[in-house]
Amino acid sequence: MEKETIFTKIDEGIIPSVKLYEDSKCFVIMDINPIVKGHSLVISKKPYCNLTQAPEKLVEHMILVARKLDLRMREVLDCDGTNIMINNDPASGQEVPHLHIHVIPRYENDGRKFSFAHDSYAEGEMADLGRRLEIR
Ligand code: AMP
Repeated sequence: MEKETIFTKIDEGIIPSVKLYEDSKCFVIMDINPIVKGHSLVISKKPYCNLTQAPEKLVEHMILVARKLDLRMREVLDCDGTNIMINNDPASGQEVPHLHIHVIPRYENDGRKFSFAHDSYAEGEMADLGRRLEIR
């Protein structure tokens, strides 16, 4: 059984939020600590802890809701793009163990950037790894 999280309490109205959308499978709230104003979260109703725990149909549905939110942000905020991302398990930086998709409005020259350092491959390493990672 999935464990309750802060997002479950938000969905139940125990913790207040600004809710933008709701259906039987997911809901959308504004992130309280936005990377850019308007940053919002598409959250599953059931607290699946990561992407692979959730049923495929739910994931499909949530990405379509994220797409609608992207369109809405472009209309209302006149943003130039969005980052749509999932932190998937604690090692990736996921703080709330409850599946959610971040949708972050972006503007040309807004000064925000992901500050990941990049790695590099030795000769032949990428091809070897690529063979192991082929999706079956
Ligand atoms: P993650 O690191 O992917 O698990 O993201 C969790 C997100 O939830 C963060 O961006 C937080 O700012 C956001 N968050 C945490 N508590 C609340 C809350 N009470 N209302 C809205 N957003 C929240």
